[in-house]
Amino acid sequence: MTAVTTEVPQRREIKTALPGPRSQELAARRANVVAGGVGSVMPVYAARASGGIIEDVDGNLLIDLGSGIAVTTVGSSAPRVVEGVQRQVADITHTCFMISPYEGYVQVCEQLAELTPGDHAKKSALFNSGAEAVENAVKIARYATGRQAVVAVDHAYHGRTNLTMALTAKAMPYKKGFGPFASDVYRVPTSYPFRDPEGMTGEQAAQRAILAAEKAVGASDIAALIIEPIQGEGGFIVPAPGFLAAIAAWCTDNGIVLIADEVQSGFARTGAWFASDHEGVVPDLVTTAKGIAGGLPLAAVTGRAELMDSVHSGGLGGTYGGNPVACAAALGAIETMREENLVERAQHIEDLALGRLRELQQANPAIGDVRGRGGMLAIEIVKPGTTEPDAALTAAVAKKCHEQGVVILTCGTYGNVIRLLPPLVISDELLLEGLDVLAAAF
Ligand SMILES: *Cc1c(COP(=O)(O)O)cnc(C)c1O
Repeated sequence: MTAVTTEVPQRREIKTALPGPRSQELAARRANVVAGGVGSVMPVYAARASGGIIEDVDGNLLIDLGSGIAVTTVGSSAPRVVEGVQRQVADITHTCFMISPYEGYVQVCEQLAELTPGDHAKKSALFNSGAEAVENAVKIARYATGRQAVVAVDHAYHGRTNLTMALTAKAMPYKKGFGPFASDVYRVPTSYPFRDPEGMTGEQAAQRAILAAEKAVGASDIAALIIEPIQGEGGFIVPAPGFLAAIAAWCTDNGIVLIADEVQSGFARTGAWFASDHEGVVPDLVTTAKGIAGGLPLAAVTGRAELMDSVHSGGLGGTYGGNPVACAAALGAIETMREENLVERAQHIEDLALGRLRELQQANPAIGDVRGRGGMLAIEIVKPGTTEPDAALTAAVAKKCHEQGVVILTCGTYGNVIRLLPPLVISDELLLEGLDVLAAAF
């Protein structure tokens, strides 16, 4: 069977004011029925998307530099994903893996065992969302160690469920008013080269974190330390070299489970299969979601077989976890990453875009820092000559890009980071055009 995929023209084209009339109609209907607490970056309603373009309901063609938050790494409606989903959805929509298991789940776990860092024996359990994967990683770490405390770092983002809100650092908008939060979570400093004391090494930043953890809990009570190898929502923070390795060594020495939250940074995004690979770090558990399934909801915890197997049978699961259609999508997405060399493609995007962003920094004193890896790049915007965040300018620049038909996202604890997460299949031309619009927005 050949997949029926929609061809979306790969060019930027603005035909109406943004939002256009159809989008405005939908916004009015939405205002009546969709909860106000659910926000949208742009009031523009999508009709179709593929490659580097999102077509809206008014026929405008927008350059996608967000991938729906690092999800459509292989592009929206990627042919292999569509084909796998169409085939699978006609055969089985759901049986529940805990009742009548199926091959797709096993195949996804085989892929995870092969691709995640380290060559030890690995096993996986599948879930629906990143937050659910993080919750389960913590459950497994607690069960396996018989300890309770969990250490998370400054600027961390791990999700919006109760436990993951406790692990997430930023109050607004994620936590404010939603407490009380899960207990036995401790926060320690991380490595943030742009904001750390000048010359602080990764080793020194790790020592700072370790001392804080030992002071707050004591290593022997810590079940797990969870960290994003490159922080996502917190500001695309790439730690100083050596930081993650020192943290990993301390975890190993103290029987602490190191959980790498690769929900945003995983699956080719950073120019490696996983961001941990850049630092040569082998986590005990890895959480994945977002890019794993080309847009369908799927998440995983993958880890050392003995840790994953420590939990009693029936202790892990969920009605929909590892849904067969989502598994088929994941297999299509992973095959796309392999066949289209998206790891190399992400490196190429870094080469292409980092240079442009550095030129932009030369010309704009408000750009304090340019950083990132692969297709996970960012600029941090400050008051010129200081490190004082400028969230207002950041929002204004993003808005200008949106008006020009470029979907661009912000992030950061201080709301002053513009992040680039293009689909890795975007053409060089569209990427550079998007960056030109960003440059003009300044
Ligand atoms: C998005 C994200 C999560 C939460 O994933 P959901 O699928 O939104 O629950 C967890 N960790 C990281 C690093 C993320 O970027």
